[in-house]
Amino acid sequence: MPLLQIQNPKEIKQKPPAIGIDLGTTHSLVACDINGQIQVIPDDKGHVLLPSVVRYLPKGDVLVGNEAKAHFAQDPHNTIVSVKRLMGRSPSDVLALPHSLDYQFVDTKASFCELVTIAGKVNPIEVSAQILKKLMKQAHHIDKDIHEAVITVPAYFDDAQRQATKDAARIAGIKVLRLLNEPTAAAIAYGLDRHAQGNCLIFDLGGGTFDVSLLQLSQGVFQVLATGGDTACGGDDIDHLIAHWALNQLNLSNQDIHYSEVVVKARVAKEDLTLQSSSIITLKDKQCTLTVSILNELITPLVNKTLAICQRVLKDAAVMISDIDHVVLVGGMTRTPFIREKVAQFFNQAPLTDIDPDKVVAIGAAISASILSGHRVDNNMLLLDVVPLSLGIEMMGGVVEKILMRNTPIPATATQTFTTSVDGQNGLSLHLVQGERELAKDCRSLAHFDLSGFPAMPAGKARIDVTFRIDTDGLLEIEAIEASGVKSKICVKPSYGLTDEAVTALIESSITNAEEDIANRKLYERMTEANQLLMSLDKALGTDSALLSSIKLEEIIQAKAALLQSLDSKDVKKINIALEALENKTQEFAELRLNTILSQALMGKSISDIENSLV
Ligand code: ADP
Ligand code: MG
Repeated sequence: MPLLQIQNPKEIKQKPPAIGIDLGTTHSLVACDINGQIQVIPDDKGHVLLPSVVRYLPKGDVLVGNEAKAHFAQDPHNTIVSVKRLMGRSPSDVLALPHSLDYQFVDTKASFCELVTIAGKVNPIEVSAQILKKLMKQAHHIDKDIHEAVITVPAYFDDAQRQATKDAARIAGIKVLRLLNEPTAAAIAYGLDRHAQGNCLIFDLGGGTFDVSLLQLSQGVFQVLATGGDTACGGDDIDHLIAHWALNQLNLSNQDIHYSEVVVKARVAKEDLTLQSSSIITLKDKQCTLTVSILNELITPLVNKTLAICQRVLKDAAVMISDIDHVVLVGGMTRTPFIREKVAQFFNQAPLTDIDPDKVVAIGAAISASILSGHRVDNNMLLLDVVPLSLGIEMMGGVVEKILMRNTPIPATATQTFTTSVDGQNGLSLHLVQGERELAKDCRSLAHFDLSGFPAMPAGKARIDVTFRIDTDGLLEIEAIEASGVKSKICVKPSYGLTDEAVTALIESSITNAEEDIANRKLYERMTEANQLLMSLDKALGTDSALLSSIKLEEIIQAKAALLQSLDSKDVKKINIALEALENKTQEFAELRLNTILSQALMGKSISDIENSLV
């Protein structure tokens, strides 16, 4: 006789870590929280910055990173750089960008980008997926089971660009825990989310773009007050300025030398000048010297442009320079001392630069990944990013079946299968509760909702899948579907109205009452089990008592009376003994019934009839 029809919650295993990925225009990198320490994960040559470059070879082979970049100058059409600029965009969007690269589009009039390469047509999502796959491979050196990640995107990315990023991740076999805005990731890396409140400005000058974001922090939650930027203002533009300057100095033109080669040399010289006062550029046996003062002069208009954009962002948000608590520098270009000085002057404060500006976004993403995957607990982010209190359903006997556990990172989904407890039941009343206690009466009642109108069936026969889905905003949707297709849905906001203190109190009460709760739970579970057995037994005796000898029938009736008596005592030990005794006494009866049903089956009944009568 099947007794307990509710499936147990799946065991929670120790999960592999989740990683943070900065999928940049110029460089991409991956970081991971390893035993509380955030580490940027290098490739097998020890490099942590992976150039966001993918090169397609004949026969479909693909190179990613430095190997791909090495041949950019010789094989530009098959070497895709800055693919981030193409994500979720049409060729006409991309061609409208100043300095758009020499992409070869399959159809410039199409609504999405597709590029021609020697290996055939490729789209930006596939190209990005190659970069992500390479980063995943690096991460797998830490743990080969890693498959979850937080991936950062610029704050200004629209839905199409965000969706394209998610699609690339899916192709790379990555489960995206969250797309996180790059400026928010940088602020998290500096631990600014731990402050109670404040304004921080993130100044991100990368390879392709300049992005500035003004964030307001309140109770551990970042709100983007304003963003600004220029999609054609970054390190690449400085490289072009230097390349033109060098060609001019040496009296060379585009005809004399491959322009992309000049750009590569210009960039090396620019990066040298972060630590040196001059650098020599050699082109076609000719040499010129780039000095810091020439560089500063070349980049002054660009730096002024970035500061004018900052000014505009502050104005948009009606925030004054004196109201800014922190300025964070992000992006490889902010290593340039001149840029640091200018930013410090403008904001009248020293910007935060302790964390390497190339790595800060990936580090913030890794911290966020660690929290979202449940490896790191951050009280400030409790209400925002995880289920603050377990969510469950009241079962027969008032016991709570927890479906989404406390501290499960959101978004999350969990499904549990339930069944009916009474014959002919064609509806179900679900009571949603929130809390850590074992009994529904001790938890917070969230909502009641009904699922009705499914075909009446014997007890235990119906299969009702109840799915809890909680989105990033903490919105909970519960859906119940019965096997016949009848369904019902309800939405609740579970953390609504719960203060931090209330959450803490509810958790504490579960700890204080844990022992008593577990004892209560055991009792209620046993009582439910006993009631189910009694119900099934009554039904079986109603139809098949003739199968039993009068002695056996009497024994069963006595054992049944003993169980009923033990239930009144509410003593779990007594109930256990009586329950076991009745189970033993009914064992033979169950076998007899089974044999009868089987022999009836042999007389022409179908297997499904047999299955139905076995319930
Ligand atoms: P993205 O976010 O666009 O991928 P990054 O943050 O990786 O960009 O920044 C890349 C830019 O930073 C490039 O233009 C690169 O030349 C520049 N850069 C990297 N290191 C230095 C350095 N030491 N000095 C100056 N510029 C640098
Ligand atoms: Mg970047």
